[in-house]
Amino acid sequence: MLQVTNTLTRTKEPAVPSGAGPVRMYTCGPTVYRYAHIGNLRTFMLADLIRRALEADGVEVRQVQNITDVGHLTNERFDHGEDRMLVSARLEGRSPAEIAEHYTRAYLADAAALNLQPARSYPRASAYVPEMIDLVERLVAKGHAYEVDGNVYFAVESFPAYGRLSRNSLDQLRAGHRQEGVDPRKRHHADFTLWKAAGPNRLVKWDSPWGEGFPGWHIECSAMSLGELGEEIDLHTGGVDNVFPHHEDEIAQSEAVVGHQVVRTWVHGEHLLTEGRRMAKSAGNFYDLRTVRERGHDPLAVRHLFLQARYRSQFNFTWDALAGAERALGRLRDRMAEWSRSPAGDGEALGGDTPALAAYQRRFRAAIDDDLDTPKALTVLGELESDETLPPADRFRAVAGFDRILGLDLANVAGEVLPDGAGELIARRERARAERDWAAADRLRDQLAGLGVEVVDTRSGTQWRLRR
Ligand code: AMP
Ligand code: ZN
Repeated sequence: MLQVTNTLTRTKEPAVPSGAGPVRMYTCGPTVYRYAHIGNLRTFMLADLIRRALEADGVEVRQVQNITDVGHLTNERFDHGEDRMLVSARLEGRSPAEIAEHYTRAYLADAAALNLQPARSYPRASAYVPEMIDLVERLVAKGHAYEVDGNVYFAVESFPAYGRLSRNSLDQLRAGHRQEGVDPRKRHHADFTLWKAAGPNRLVKWDSPWGEGFPGWHIECSAMSLGELGEEIDLHTGGVDNVFPHHEDEIAQSEAVVGHQVVRTWVHGEHLLTEGRRMAKSAGNFYDLRTVRERGHDPLAVRHLFLQARYRSQFNFTWDALAGAERALGRLRDRMAEWSRSPAGDGEALGGDTPALAAYQRRFRAAIDDDLDTPKALTVLGELESDETLPPADRFRAVAGFDRILGLDLANVAGEVLPDGAGELIARRERARAERDWAAADRLRDQLAGLGVEVVDTRSGTQWRLRR
């Protein structure tokens, strides 16, 4: 069974109790005011790997991923505490709803291109504001929150476990808050905003018991996780920057309302870096899948690259490393195509797995189960790939099995047939690209996606694959 490092205990634990029924998993989702960068996608892929490993064991996983289309106040310099959605709306001359719609679609397409299995639901923060207001009211009623001038704050001193996840004490937090200047309306320097009064220029706002305003970022994930998954959640994922304050505050809010522990296991992915610095929208040092494609790479090469590091380690992205991952992926696909055509036979006819094959399968699974040691799992795959003592059909079957967790579409290489009309669309798209008519090429890409065909423009020409 899969073990993961629980941030609450800092130890490896079974991801879910043995014999668990449907597993409830909440994944902090994207803020949809720009394209997700590949660092964001690395964190979302962590949730996908956990899910695939559990599903390979026959465990049903109910995954919910929120879409942050409102709020998300930060103190980053980029927006000086303004709502990022509104900043983008102003910069792009579109309404906040149009921006959110555009980038939500783009995110779902990116997730599909990386073979992230779709979540059961993608609740939008903007559709959950009444539930957020309800939570804030209950926190006020229970003495965990207070209102000043139309703003509502969570009183951290009312929740003794505050700081348990991030291992911060209230005194440690004092230093950081001092530098930023403390809001004089707060009773305690670490109190955080649940509801904020709307300023005069605020476009997106809601009526509330405290006047017109809008929710803080953290309350959205409490409202959506409780609303979609209930008061007992098995797994909650995010990036390490979410530990504090986002998840610390989510715990305080949710648990203060319901009166008991909500999330059992928190799993956090380390950051993707570029040139040694965290890849971040605010720092401007980020790449997204559009750039990956423009540079002629297959998005699944990104997936292969990310599998080369464990989720708990930082990982420095370079284009050279991506090219290397793409070569390794191409080699694997070629071998799979070759094995699938091998006249040596039909693996099934050999009657089950030989002990040699079973040993590879055990070692692969042990690596995955050991806190998602994907680099080791790839090493086992590489050994199997070059083990010429194994019949090709056996190797095909084993690697296809590994791929249920790796998600590299390795079993799809052989015998794929394009649906009716897709060949014509691909040819038209090639012509459009040759004529540099990018708008037409994009339209044709969308039409192909509608038929379940994904096209990838690589240096060696356009390739296609079927979406599952
Ligand atoms: P955002 O869209 O900014 O809310 O971020 C979405 C997710 O990406 C969050 O869970 C972040 O923790 C995560 N994230 C942000 N930057 C990185 C990075 N450089 N590497 C890995 N994950 C990241
Ligand atoms: Zn969240």
